[in-house]
Amino acid sequence: MASGSNVETNRIRIFAKITAPFVAGACTECHKIPSDDVHIKSCSRCRLIWYCGKECQKKNWTYHKKFCKATSSVAADLSGPGSYLMDSAKDEVEQGEDFQDYLTDIMNAVSEALERSLDFIETKILMCPKVCEICKDANPAVLIPCKICYMVFYCSEKHANQDFVKHRKFCREYFLSLLCYHLVATKGMPLPGNMPFTIPTVSEYKPMSGTMKDYIIKSSFDPVIDACLTEYVSYPLSLIYALEHIGLKDGTKKICEVKELTILMCDAFNCIIGTMGQCFTWEYMLHLLPKLRKLNVMLVESREFYDYELDDKAIKSRTVNLCSECKSRKCKVKISIMTNYSVYKNSLGYKKPDVIFNHEVTSRDEQDAYFPYPDPEVPLVLINVFKETIEESFCVMRKMEKHDTLLPLQLNPFRAMRPIKMHMDYIEDGDGIAYSNCYIVGLRRQAKDKCGTISLDESL
Ligand SMILES: [Zn+2]
Ligand SMILES: [Zn+2]
Ligand SMILES: [Zn+2]
Ligand SMILES: [Zn+2]
Ligand SMILES: [Zn+2]
Repeated sequence: MASGSNVETNRIRIFAKITAPFVAGACTECHKIPSDDVHIKSCSRCRLIWYCGKECQKKNWTYHKKFCKATSSVAADLSGPGSYLMDSAKDEVEQGEDFQDYLTDIMNAVSEALERSLDFIETKILMCPKVCEICKDANPAVLIPCKICYMVFYCSEKHANQDFVKHRKFCREYFLSLLCYHLVATKGMPLPGNMPFTIPTVSEYKPMSGTMKDYIIKSSFDPVIDACLTEYVSYPLSLIYALEHIGLKDGTKKICEVKELTILMCDAFNCIIGTMGQCFTWEYMLHLLPKLRKLNVMLVESREFYDYELDDKAIKSRTVNLCSECKSRKCKVKISIMTNYSVYKNSLGYKKPDVIFNHEVTSRDEQDAYFPYPDPEVPLVLINVFKETIEESFCVMRKMEKHDTLLPLQLNPFRAMRPIKMHMDYIEDGDGIAYSNCYIVGLRRQAKDKCGTISLDESL
């Protein structure tokens, strides 16, 4: 990739914003993280975000001002003038209200006060307030952090002890998530030099086995960098894994036999600026599939997101500088970025994708460019942090078309290893730790007119 260009820098910067948006207790401006020596104070007006000092607070004020005022006014409505947004959390939870529901109500109220929807940083701020893990007390005068991870807080010794057994299981991952946050927020997502983990090219195909750990040869000797880099590797590994189960064409062609592969990703904002828009991400497919020579990756995004600080140069196709081994095998990777798939589909250069690789299919119905997905017989691989999001996708899909599940919904063995702490307990058995590409499912869809006799897989 072109290094040092403004477009590239911009893209990495936005990506850093998205992937490391906020951590409760870390300085919102310079991302200094809390430790025994670094004490970070909350904004005295809203108590929702933190600064290491006056200077950072001043710098951040232009961005924070409106949000600060909006949250303060919502707090005043909720519990009287001078109160803070999370002040009523403890009482509400004591009275049996679900904390997540409480936060959702608050987010809606703040969004109303701002007269616009919340951006991703604001959402994270409200989803991850600094409150006691047990009773949701938000009084900063009493809250003490876990002295190992600094990612959870307790109002008292008693509540810390009460949470000890549960927290012990996640404390290390929380700390790793804090270090990853700091790295990404201050330096951006680490970019591997020439392939992050030297996955060597193989001369004979080996079926996927094991987990992500078995595929990476640690190159940086820094567990924080390594954890971040797995976010790139996760996509190609997961896709090969899914296609082993689904097959290509009508299921008759094996993934190990393909010479050319065309991947379509809709809703690709994150791909364009993030890990999937990077060429080396896809080069792994060439390394693991010895017969593959040509890889076309099409990223489609038409949402308003798209003009988010990206300029035209970023939209042009990118051809990749591959490693010497790929070059000697005459391999090619082409990444194309487009805003309207329908236009492309009706153009002369149209190439039918072999697989659609997506995060979700919900809310696609508003955009007829996307849904129903083009070419119903093209297999679909869904991958997401949240199981629930994939399940929602199923509900939408069921109404539109029938499908056979060839890779059942499961915990993805090739999920990324960088932990992201979520306060809302989204993750089953994970106590609020999320990993990119955590869940995966592979489907073969049936064209509407042909699906009469095919039974629906109701196992999900
Ligand atoms: Zn600071
Ligand atoms: Zn504030
Ligand atoms: Zn407590
Ligand atoms: Zn801890
Ligand atoms: Zn290569």
